[in-house]
Amino acid sequence: MTDTSSAYDRPLPVPVHEDLSKPFWEATKKHELIMPKCNSCSSIFFYPREACPECTSMDLDWTEVSGQGRVYSYTHVRQAVHPYFQSENGHIYAIIELLEGPKIPSNILECEPEDIFVDMNVVATFEDLNDDFTLLKFKPGP
Ligand SMILES: [Zn+2]
Repeated sequence: MTDTSSAYDRPLPVPVHEDLSKPFWEATKKHELIMPKCNSCSSIFFYPREACPECTSMDLDWTEVSGQGRVYSYTHVRQAVHPYFQSENGHIYAIIELLEGPKIPSNILECEPEDIFVDMNVVATFEDLNDDFTLLKFKPGP
């Protein structure tokens, strides 16, 4: 008898509900994009953390951002690390620089990989995984 199970048979990976990132995930479920903002120096940053990466202040809040940005860097992933993410044409893993400054890792949807380029304008879109999680993605934008 052949055992066909492997490490790739694990369930779909989902974000961890940590206190620091919970507001972000609650907003994405409503298809809204928010980022941590420092009340001391006004820096907007990502990923969520306990202190501002610019001035170390712990006086932080959340602010809604435009969802508009540009492709800072990207790669065309043809062999996914998890079967859930495998598709016939692979997927685009990108670093998106938002207009407000933060850089965020994501995917670019709704365009062919060969049409993507650095500095391309993109806008946020949301992919509902299930009742608990919605992922932030990007698509070509204005
Ligand atoms: Zn700060």
